Amino acid sequence: MKLTVLGGSAAGPNTGAGCAGFLVTEGDTAIVIDMGPGTLLELRKHLDFRLLNAIVISHCHLDHILDLAAFRYLAMYNPDPLTRRLPLFVPPGSVDRFSNWTSAFGDEDDETFLEDVFEMAEYDPATSLDIGSIAIAFSRTFHPVPAWAMRVAGPGSNDLGYSADTGPVALDCLTRFFSGVSLLISESTEPADTQDTADKRGHLTPQEAGTLAADAGASTLILTHRWQELGLELGADEAGATFSGQIMIARPGLSVFL
Ligand SMILES: [Zn+2]
Ligand SMILES: [Zn+2]
Repeated sequence: MKLTVLGGSAAGPNTGAGCAGFLVTEGDTAIVIDMGPGTLLELRKHLDFRLLNAIVISHCHLDHILDLAAFRYLAMYNPDPLTRRLPLFVPPGSVDRFSNWTSAFGDEDDETFLEDVFEMAEYDPATSLDIGSIAIAFSRTFHPVPAWAMRVAGPGSNDLGYSADTGPVALDCLTRFFSGVSLLISESTEPADTQDTADKRGHLTPQEAGTLAADAGASTLILTHRWQELGLELGADEAGATFSGQIMIARPGLSVFL
């Protein structure tokens, strides 16, 4: 299994880096997890978009979904268009939210903006989502909208964990969920000296990301969802206070084999 980072920024793009987006390939299977602003640009460097098997969305915040709208235009109006509808797996209960969101973009009388190119389905977090040779398990995070962390598995490969967006409340649930993953991609949005109490936070500090990776037994931590203004390298240093394994910073094009 191979991971390629497509973005790495927090709620808005950093200089030259889009938001949440990860390409995961395993054999002939290729999926993208989250498709935030600026990530489609990076995806085209690594994969023919027509070869994607599915897109899976962690939650409905704009920094995780905006390029779905761009993908729709790419897939429909490209001279070599997508000739089938691409499976798009969204969180439970969110299909209506997507319809409302995209109603601003369509032509008059167009009520199927995303459905024109996507086969939309809500995943069931209680069961594994199997896409080709990739299997994804889900765990609810602590965030202002329902958000789902993912554990990605492929045959003969170590597991990959993705925190999605989450605050530190009930982090032990995520620790159990990620137990034994080799690589953890964790959000690290908050400054180390945040004064907000845990129950007011929908995001982690780098130290908390490090704790999550250490307690889960991961060997590698990729810090993502990070504002450049807070210091990307500084975030790695802060995570190093709680995690002794390898720490990398999510940047467009970073690839890791599992
Ligand atoms: Zn986010
Ligand atoms: Zn979010």
